[in-house]
Amino acid sequence: MTTTKKTAAVIGAGFGGIALAIRLQAAGVQTTLFEARDKPGGRAYVYEDQGFTFDAGPTVITDPSALEELFALGGKRMADYVELLPVAPFYRLCWEDGSHFDYANDQDAMDRQIHARNPADVAGYQRFLAYSKAVFEEGYIKLGTVPFLSFRSMVQAGPALAKLQAWRSVYSMVSKFIADDKLRQVFSFHSLLVGGNPFATSSIYALIHALERKWGVWFPRGGTGALVRGLLRYFEDLGGVVRLNAPVDRIELTDGRASALMVHGESLPFDQVASNADVVHTYAQLLGHAPRGLAEAKRLQSKRFSMSLFVVHFGLSRPQPQLQHHTVCFGPRYRELIDEIFNGSALSDDFSLYLHAPCVTDPSLAPPGCASHYVLAPVPHLGQAAIDWEVQGPLLRDRILAYLEQRYIPNLRRDLVTCRIFTPADFKTELSAHLGSAFSLEPLLTQSAWFRSHNRDDTIPNLYIVGAGTHPGAGVPGVVGSAKATASLMLEGL
Ligand SMILES: Cc1cc2nc3c(=O)[nH]c(=O)nc-3n(C[C@H](O)[C@H](O)[C@H](O)COP(=O)(O)OP(=O)(O)OC[C@H]3O[C@@H](n4cnc5c(N)ncnc54)[C@H](O)[C@@H]3O)c2cc1C
Repeated sequence: MTTTKKTAAVIGAGFGGIALAIRLQAAGVQTTLFEARDKPGGRAYVYEDQGFTFDAGPTVITDPSALEELFALGGKRMADYVELLPVAPFYRLCWEDGSHFDYANDQDAMDRQIHARNPADVAGYQRFLAYSKAVFEEGYIKLGTVPFLSFRSMVQAGPALAKLQAWRSVYSMVSKFIADDKLRQVFSFHSLLVGGNPFATSSIYALIHALERKWGVWFPRGGTGALVRGLLRYFEDLGGVVRLNAPVDRIELTDGRASALMVHGESLPFDQVASNADVVHTYAQLLGHAPRGLAEAKRLQSKRFSMSLFVVHFGLSRPQPQLQHHTVCFGPRYRELIDEIFNGSALSDDFSLYLHAPCVTDPSLAPPGCASHYVLAPVPHLGQAAIDWEVQGPLLRDRILAYLEQRYIPNLRRDLVTCRIFTPADFKTELSAHLGSAFSLEPLLTQSAWFRSHNRDDTIPNLYIVGAGTHPGAGVPGVVGSAKATASLMLEGL
């Protein structure tokens, strides 16, 4: 007797979608990955221009073990497909008074710098690190890849979360241990990397600090795009099918189950369907023809979404040896600026920036003697502030480039070879991101775990969600973890 192989479709080739497709294919499910754009990666798309390579999104690669685990499923090693290079220091954090802090995995160097700012904070930092390790164990190791399908599962996690004071914000928890104002910025800004306001997001997100200290910060040789390509090549080697330029128009339902995808006017049947697309887009557009889609889209639209980003990719005709790979350029205000980004109704006059200089680690990302970069500023999403990005985008670009030239990259505009911008409006049109949010649902305690979109839909039994909008949330380790949670449900559902 022959049994037909089960089939699955994954909509969207972001890190979450690719990781899920790999897990399914490695388990023997014939899996097809549909991506609307011409290249995979989603937020981790790649632009190429005049010999410069620009990663569009993630550049700080943490928890390589989660990626290694994917390759091990097929009996491979990550090194067979892509090489990860260590980044040191992890980040340089700079202020307008000219001072900086090199955040590194070197305890002596950290202690020296903390001591120079406030001797009492050396001991405070140790207590913060111990706290961060405790939330890392609870929030990442124990709960990071567990699907929260029932309220009961949330209640079970309650005592541990209460003990860790998860209702407090990241900033308030850091402030409990550390007194110096700038050090409080150093140890609280991390939640912004996953779309969380350090003054509002749960202190559980302080786990990012312990995660980085444990496994380091890495950068793939050839850029994050090389990691995406390596994962995709591995998926195809396992027998998976990738369809680029293949936007899914709708998820068809038969007798309450997902039965097929409509792609380029063709109905393609599958046993199981998972969406890595934006959660609001999934329910409002792909399932907008069904009452379930409309109801869930309405529920999600009433939630808070994380901020957006304004990104400038630029190539220079000279190397920039004065830069570190990752630089955070703090502006004149911290709390007030973040409040305006998350709650304000206009673009602020000042900004804080993240500057990416990948050629510090891998010069192959630019023509010989040149340097590729991106710089980003967190900005309000489209539902927060009515900003005309067609007009404001080029103006903000010019302000940011002038600021960088004055403080970080002398003669930047003279040496500029190529430059492009990506605005919140592009997040909406290019990635179908609700309100142009860069990180989907804001990671608040009241929007985490069971309160986030579930990894399996509540009423359509063979429809699944993976990626930033579901548990555990945004960031590469987060969405790769969501793929593990979702895959466990899909494989058990076959
Ligand atoms: C500028 C920037 C910098 C970042 N930096 C970091 C970092 O340094 N480290 C880190 O860990 N995280 C970082 N992040 C966050 C991280 O990149 C994201 O959280 C993560 O990559 C999101 O992955 P995802 O699986 O949710 O899918 P996404 O990347 O959102 O991809 C979803 C995919 O679905 C596709 N799609 C949508 N609709 C359809 C449809 N109808 N049919 C077919 N396909 C569809 C989209 O085209 C897209 O390719 C950054 C994010 C941004 C924007």
